[in-house]
Amino acid sequence: MRKHIVAGNWKMNKNATETKALLSDVKSSLGQLNSSKRIIVAPPYTSLFVAKESAKDSLLEVAAQNMHQSNSGAFTGEISADMLIDIGVNIVILGHSERRAYFGENDEILREKVNTALANGLEIIFCFGELLEDRIANNHFHVVEQQLTNVLFHLKEDDWKKIILAYEPVWAIGTGETATPDQAQEMHQFIRKLITKQYSDSLANEVSILYGGSVKPSNAKEIFSKPDVDGGLIGGASLQAGDFMAIVDAF
Ligand code: PEP
Repeated sequence: MRKHIVAGNWKMNKNATETKALLSDVKSSLGQLNSSKRIIVAPPYTSLFVAKESAKDSLLEVAAQNMHQSNSGAFTGEISADMLIDIGVNIVILGHSERRAYFGENDEILREKVNTALANGLEIIFCFGELLEDRIANNHFHVVEQQLTNVLFHLKEDDWKKIILAYEPVWAIGTGETATPDQAQEMHQFIRKLITKQYSDSLANEVSILYGGSVKPSNAKEIFSKPDVDGGLIGGASLQAGDFMAIVDAF
Protein backbone atom coordinates (compact mmCIF):
# COMPACT_ATOMS: atom_id res chain seq x y z
CA MET A 1 0.00 0.00 0.00
CA ARG A 2 1.24 3.48 -0.84
CA LYS A 3 2.24 5.57 2.14
CA HIS A 4 0.89 9.06 2.57
CA ILE A 5 3.68 11.61 2.30
CA VAL A 6 3.81 15.26 3.25
CA ALA A 7 7.04 17.02 2.29
CA GLY A 8 7.93 20.60 3.12
CA ASN A 9 10.08 22.49 0.66
CA TRP A 10 11.47 25.39 2.63
CA LYS A 11 13.20 26.95 -0.39
CA MET A 12 15.66 29.73 0.64
CA ASN A 13 14.11 30.19 4.09
CA LYS A 14 15.25 29.37 7.63
CA ASN A 15 18.84 29.65 8.74
CA ALA A 16 20.26 26.96 11.02
CA THR A 17 19.00 28.63 14.21
CA GLU A 18 15.51 29.05 12.77
CA THR A 19 15.59 25.47 11.49
CA LYS A 20 16.19 24.16 14.99
CA ALA A 21 13.27 26.18 16.35
CA LEU A 22 10.84 25.19 13.60
CA LEU A 23 11.71 21.51 13.85
CA SER A 24 11.36 21.58 17.60
CA ASP A 25 7.77 22.83 17.09
CA VAL A 26 7.09 20.27 14.38
CA LYS A 27 8.47 17.47 16.54
CA SER A 28 6.25 18.37 19.46
CA SER A 29 3.22 17.47 17.28
CA LEU A 30 4.73 14.28 15.94
CA GLY A 31 3.48 12.20 18.82
CA GLN A 32 0.14 11.77 17.09
CA LEU A 33 1.76 10.63 13.86
CA ASN A 34 0.86 7.19 12.66
CA SER A 35 3.53 5.31 10.80
CA SER A 36 1.54 4.99 7.59
CA LYS A 37 2.60 8.59 6.94
CA ARG A 38 6.00 9.95 5.98
CA ILE A 39 6.89 13.51 6.88
CA ILE A 40 9.83 15.02 5.08
CA VAL A 41 11.35 18.47 5.43
CA ALA A 42 13.73 20.02 2.92
CA PRO A 43 15.62 22.94 4.45
CA PRO A 44 18.43 24.81 2.67
CA TYR A 45 21.86 23.14 2.52
CA THR A 46 23.28 25.11 5.46
CA SER A 47 20.51 23.81 7.69
CA LEU A 48 20.66 20.15 6.69
CA PHE A 49 23.09 19.10 9.38
CA VAL A 50 21.12 20.81 12.12
CA ALA A 51 17.91 19.36 10.69
CA LYS A 52 19.34 15.86 10.78
CA GLU A 53 20.37 16.39 14.41
CA SER A 54 16.88 17.70 15.28
CA ALA A 55 15.16 14.84 13.47
CA LYS A 56 17.19 12.18 15.27
CA ASP A 57 15.00 9.65 17.10
CA SER A 58 11.86 10.96 15.42
CA LEU A 59 9.85 9.93 12.38
CA LEU A 60 10.84 13.12 10.63
CA GLU A 61 12.91 12.68 7.46
CA VAL A 62 15.22 15.26 5.92
CA ALA A 63 15.69 15.95 2.21
CA ALA A 64 17.90 18.29 0.21
CA GLN A 65 16.38 20.69 -2.30
CA ASN A 66 18.88 19.95 -5.06
CA MET A 67 22.25 18.38 -5.91
CA HIS A 68 24.74 18.53 -8.76
CA GLN A 69 24.78 15.88 -11.46
CA SER A 70 28.54 15.22 -11.14
CA ASN A 71 30.03 13.23 -8.32
CA SER A 72 32.77 15.78 -7.62
CA GLY A 73 34.93 18.34 -9.37
CA ALA A 74 35.31 21.98 -10.33
CA PHE A 75 31.73 23.12 -9.81
CA THR A 76 32.03 26.07 -7.46
CA GLY A 77 29.10 26.45 -5.14
CA GLU A 78 27.59 23.05 -5.86
CA ILE A 79 26.84 20.06 -3.63
CA SER A 80 27.21 16.40 -4.63
CA ALA A 81 25.12 13.35 -3.85
CA ASP A 82 27.96 11.92 -1.78
CA MET A 83 28.08 15.05 0.39
CA LEU A 84 24.40 14.59 1.18
CA ILE A 85 24.74 10.91 1.93
CA ASP A 86 27.75 11.62 4.15
CA ILE A 87 25.64 13.76 6.49
CA GLY A 88 22.82 11.24 6.47
CA VAL A 89 20.54 12.95 3.96
CA ASN A 90 19.10 10.21 1.77
CA ILE A 91 16.40 12.10 -0.12
CA VAL A 92 16.72 14.87 -2.70
CA ILE A 93 14.18 17.04 -4.51
CA LEU A 94 14.96 17.29 -8.22
CA GLY A 95 13.28 19.21 -11.01
CA HIS A 96 11.55 21.88 -8.96
CA SER A 97 10.06 24.50 -11.26
CA GLU A 98 12.14 27.24 -9.62
CA ARG A 99 15.31 25.31 -10.50
CA ARG A 100 14.02 24.94 -14.04
CA ALA A 101 12.98 28.59 -14.39
CA TYR A 102 15.84 30.41 -12.64
CA PHE A 103 18.78 28.05 -12.93
CA GLY A 104 18.38 26.61 -16.40
CA GLU A 105 17.71 23.04 -15.35
CA ASN A 106 16.23 21.28 -18.36
CA ASP A 107 15.18 17.69 -18.93
CA GLU A 108 18.65 16.69 -20.10
CA ILE A 109 20.32 17.97 -16.93
CA LEU A 110 17.57 16.48 -14.79
CA ARG A 111 18.02 13.08 -16.38
CA GLU A 112 21.70 13.23 -15.42
CA LYS A 113 20.81 14.32 -11.90
CA VAL A 114 18.33 11.48 -11.55
CA ASN A 115 20.92 8.96 -12.73
CA THR A 116 23.54 10.33 -10.34
CA ALA A 117 21.16 10.40 -7.40
CA LEU A 118 20.10 6.80 -7.98
CA ALA A 119 23.68 5.64 -8.50
CA ASN A 120 24.46 7.08 -5.07
CA GLY A 121 21.44 5.48 -3.44
CA LEU A 122 19.40 8.64 -2.91
CA GLU A 123 15.62 8.63 -2.99
CA ILE A 124 14.22 11.31 -5.31
CA ILE A 125 11.20 13.57 -5.08
CA PHE A 126 10.87 14.43 -8.75
CA CYS A 127 8.90 17.58 -9.55
CA PHE A 128 7.28 18.33 -12.86
CA GLY A 129 4.22 20.16 -14.16
CA GLU A 130 2.94 22.47 -16.82
CA LEU A 131 3.09 26.25 -17.17
CA LEU A 132 -0.09 28.33 -17.21
CA GLU A 133 0.20 28.76 -20.98
CA ASP A 134 0.28 24.97 -21.40
CA ARG A 135 -2.86 24.57 -19.31
CA ILE A 136 -4.66 27.34 -21.23
CA ALA A 137 -3.67 25.70 -24.53
CA ASN A 138 -4.94 22.37 -23.18
CA ASN A 139 -1.42 21.02 -23.63
CA HIS A 140 -0.83 20.03 -20.02
CA PHE A 141 -1.07 16.27 -20.48
CA HIS A 142 1.39 16.36 -23.33
CA VAL A 143 3.87 18.51 -21.36
CA VAL A 144 3.75 16.20 -18.36
CA GLU A 145 4.15 13.12 -20.57
CA GLN A 146 7.22 14.69 -22.20
CA GLN A 147 8.79 15.60 -18.86
CA LEU A 148 8.35 12.09 -17.50
CA THR A 149 9.47 10.45 -20.73
CA ASN A 150 12.58 12.62 -21.04
CA VAL A 151 13.74 12.32 -17.45
CA LEU A 152 12.41 9.09 -15.95
CA PHE A 153 11.14 6.58 -18.47
CA HIS A 154 14.60 5.21 -19.26
CA LEU A 155 14.81 3.87 -15.69
CA LYS A 156 14.44 0.21 -14.83
CA GLU A 157 11.30 -0.79 -12.97
CA ASP A 158 13.39 -1.53 -9.90
CA ASP A 159 14.78 2.05 -9.84
CA TRP A 160 11.26 3.33 -9.18
CA LYS A 161 11.46 2.10 -5.59
CA LYS A 162 13.46 5.29 -5.05
CA ILE A 163 11.16 7.66 -6.95
CA ILE A 164 8.41 9.82 -5.48
CA LEU A 165 6.59 11.93 -8.06
CA ALA A 166 5.41 15.46 -7.31
CA TYR A 167 3.00 16.95 -9.82
CA GLU A 168 3.29 20.70 -9.42
CA PRO A 169 1.44 22.82 -11.95
CA VAL A 170 3.70 25.87 -12.16
CA TRP A 171 0.76 28.27 -12.19
CA ALA A 172 -0.20 27.05 -8.72
CA ILE A 173 3.19 27.35 -7.01
CA GLY A 174 3.46 30.21 -4.56
CA THR A 175 0.55 31.98 -6.27
CA GLY A 176 -2.27 31.13 -3.90
CA GLU A 177 -3.92 29.53 -6.93
CA THR A 178 -4.54 25.81 -6.37
CA ALA A 179 -5.47 23.16 -8.88
CA THR A 180 -8.92 21.91 -8.01
CA PRO A 181 -8.96 18.48 -6.38
CA ASP A 182 -10.49 17.18 -9.63
CA GLN A 183 -7.73 18.70 -11.74
CA ALA A 184 -5.12 17.09 -9.46
CA GLN A 185 -6.89 13.74 -9.55
CA GLU A 186 -7.26 13.88 -13.35
CA MET A 187 -3.53 14.46 -13.82
CA HIS A 188 -2.45 11.89 -11.23
CA GLN A 189 -4.66 9.28 -12.87
CA PHE A 190 -3.16 10.18 -16.25
CA ILE A 191 0.35 9.74 -14.79
CA ARG A 192 -0.52 6.29 -13.46
CA LYS A 193 -1.81 5.33 -16.91
CA LEU A 194 1.49 6.46 -18.44
CA ILE A 195 3.43 4.34 -15.95
CA THR A 196 1.19 1.35 -16.69
CA LYS A 197 1.83 1.78 -20.40
CA GLN A 198 5.59 2.19 -19.96
CA TYR A 199 6.09 -0.38 -17.18
CA SER A 200 3.28 -2.24 -15.46
CA ASP A 201 0.03 -1.85 -13.61
CA SER A 202 1.64 -2.96 -10.37
CA LEU A 203 4.34 -0.28 -10.59
CA ALA A 204 1.75 2.37 -11.42
CA ASN A 205 -0.10 1.43 -8.25
CA GLU A 206 3.02 1.48 -6.10
CA VAL A 207 4.45 4.89 -7.05
CA SER A 208 3.54 7.73 -4.71
CA ILE A 209 2.32 10.84 -6.50
CA LEU A 210 2.23 14.06 -4.49
CA TYR A 211 0.42 17.22 -5.48
CA GLY A 212 2.14 20.58 -4.98
CA GLY A 213 0.88 24.10 -5.49
CA SER A 214 -0.51 26.36 -2.75
CA VAL A 215 -1.63 23.52 -0.50
CA LYS A 216 -2.72 24.92 2.86
CA PRO A 217 -4.65 23.68 5.90
CA SER A 218 -7.91 24.92 4.35
CA ASN A 219 -7.65 22.92 1.11
CA ALA A 220 -5.44 19.94 2.01
CA LYS A 221 -8.21 17.58 3.13
CA GLU A 222 -10.15 17.88 -0.10
CA ILE A 223 -7.07 17.46 -2.29
CA PHE A 224 -5.79 14.50 -0.26
CA SER A 225 -9.17 12.81 -0.42
CA LYS A 226 -8.65 12.04 -4.10
CA PRO A 227 -7.72 8.40 -4.71
CA ASP A 228 -4.59 9.04 -6.77
CA VAL A 229 -3.21 11.84 -4.59
CA ASP A 230 -0.79 10.33 -2.09
CA GLY A 231 0.25 13.51 -0.37
CA GLY A 232 1.65 16.95 -0.93
CA LEU A 233 4.79 18.91 -1.56
CA ILE A 234 4.26 22.04 0.47
CA GLY A 235 6.12 25.33 0.03
CA GLY A 236 4.89 28.41 1.89
CA ALA A 237 2.70 26.53 4.38
CA SER A 238 5.61 24.34 5.50
CA LEU A 239 7.32 27.32 7.15
CA GLN A 240 4.89 27.43 10.07
CA ALA A 241 4.76 24.33 12.28
CA GLY A 242 1.03 24.76 12.94
CA ASP A 243 0.09 24.99 9.26
CA PHE A 244 2.44 22.19 8.24
CA MET A 245 1.15 19.81 10.90
CA ALA A 246 -2.44 20.71 10.08
CA ILE A 247 -1.71 19.62 6.51
CA VAL A 248 -0.10 16.41 7.79
CA ASP A 249 -3.21 15.80 9.85
CA ALA A 250 -5.44 16.37 6.83
CA PHE A 251 -5.06 12.72 5.88
C1 PEP B 1 6.65 24.24 -3.88
O1 PEP B 1 7.54 25.06 -3.75
O2 PEP B 1 6.93 23.09 -4.23
C2 PEP B 1 5.27 24.65 -3.61
C3 PEP B 1 4.31 23.80 -3.86
O3 PEP B 1 5.09 25.91 -3.08
P1 PEP B 1 3.71 26.52 -2.49
O4 PEP B 1 3.12 25.47 -1.62
O5 PEP B 1 4.13 27.73 -1.74
O6 PEP B 1 2.84 26.81 -3.67
